[in-house]
Amino acid sequence: TKIHHNIKVLVVFSTAVRKLSLSSGSRPKVCIVGGGPAGFYTAQHLLKAQDDVIVDVYERLPVPFGLVRFGVAPDHPEVKNVINTFTQTAQHERCFFHGNVNVGVDVTVKELKKAYHAVVLSYGAEANRCMGVPGEDLAGVFSARDFVGWYNGLPSNQKLNPDLNCETVVILGQGNVALDVARILLSPLDMLKKTDITQHALEALTASRVRRVLIVGRRGPLQIAGTIKEVREMINLPDTTADMLPADFKGISETLKGRNAEQNSGTYFCFPCVSLPQGSGEDAKAVPTGQMEDLECGMVISSIGYKSLPIDPCVPFEHRGAIIPNDMGRVLDTAGLYCSGWVKRGPTGVIATTMNDSFDTARVLLKDMKEGTLDLSVNKPGAQEITALLQERGNTHRNTQKKKNADCTLFSRKKNTLLTNSQKFKTF
Ligand code: FAD
Repeated sequence: TKIHHNIKVLVVFSTAVRKLSLSSGSRPKVCIVGGGPAGFYTAQHLLKAQDDVIVDVYERLPVPFGLVRFGVAPDHPEVKNVINTFTQTAQHERCFFHGNVNVGVDVTVKELKKAYHAVVLSYGAEANRCMGVPGEDLAGVFSARDFVGWYNGLPSNQKLNPDLNCETVVILGQGNVALDVARILLSPLDMLKKTDITQHALEALTASRVRRVLIVGRRGPLQIAGTIKEVREMINLPDTTADMLPADFKGISETLKGRNAEQNSGTYFCFPCVSLPQGSGEDAKAVPTGQMEDLECGMVISSIGYKSLPIDPCVPFEHRGAIIPNDMGRVLDTAGLYCSGWVKRGPTGVIATTMNDSFDTARVLLKDMKEGTLDLSVNKPGAQEITALLQERGNTHRNTQKKKNADCTLFSRKKNTLLTNSQKFKTF
């Protein structure tokens, strides 16, 4: 309609004015690769601490927030609340979100470095750690990354189609992700229905026959990488029995006092270990017991961790630790290049850990600006140049400048939670 057309013209005009005013003069221009927690926390600190810096966030997926959207379990809405803070950052007048830009493929880091005063790499850890044992690629064996992506609506995992027509699932690894997966497999449907789990996952779980989850680890339950909150959630899961050997929990019996493992028996999970811990605390090592056991199961989910991959030949990469080698967030031997989040320190820690290290990186970057290590005397074209490059290369799906529209369709502010995943992807 005419009214609609006028509004559209007005929006385009006001965006153009804003662009013009922001592009004038020699303002520090920083580009961030990756729109997950690390990217948004780095942006937040830069924007808050310096009132002339312009921040562009380039994200491979059409939508922002990385693992907060596609990793964090749907029954943890309190964790997903950080999205509100990230949305505020995305809406900041000096922050721009460019979705559907796969850095290293659509545009090189070298091109970004040329267009910006500084580039921060915050692209997380997208690959799986593999065990390297035979059968890892058989049908019915999934990585936790894919399984989590499936129930959280990651487009690339939508067709995973796990066969839940089995009684027993074995999860390899005993970290928080393993516990998330076990909980989702065993949670009563009434609980799952209240979350933003995808409709296809909810339907599959409704038909699921899974009643037993074995969470297998190398060492004993006291050495598991999961945190007490997640273990407690498992133990407290309605209609589920936690089957754990008291002898394995010497020293924490106080924590478990008062629990009655026999109180319900609908579903069941336990923590078998395939070796005995030798030594204590952080230094405890896994030593094989030599005892073998066959576990009959219909599905295996490998949850032994994530790892980062190199993004571009011009960026140093430490293959052993699978991180970008850095000093406090400054990429080694590469002026103007910084990193934050999982790609900086490895795929461990919670969002709060990622927040602290991203703030550290932003502080170091600002210090370099202040002390002249970063040359701000030259005017840099920033997004103008990169957008032209992407258009030239036919990257038609980008949703640059559409972040506010996207926000309206992606979040339900009323309930402070995400809408269902199917609704999330309507716009793209
Ligand atoms: P990510 O969140 O992975 O963000 C990286 C972003 O970079 C992604 O959006 C990705 O698409 C993008 N990207 C990748 N490659 C490119 C490229 N080439 N070009 C452009 N963009 C790119 N923490 C908690 O505190 N509570 C929890 O309950 C919790 N649950 C978790 C559940 C799971 C399954 C996982 C894996 C982690 C969980 N965490 C949780 C940890 C938390 O998610 C991480 O600490 C945090 O997401 C790391 O942030 P990041 O920005 O470094 O990485």
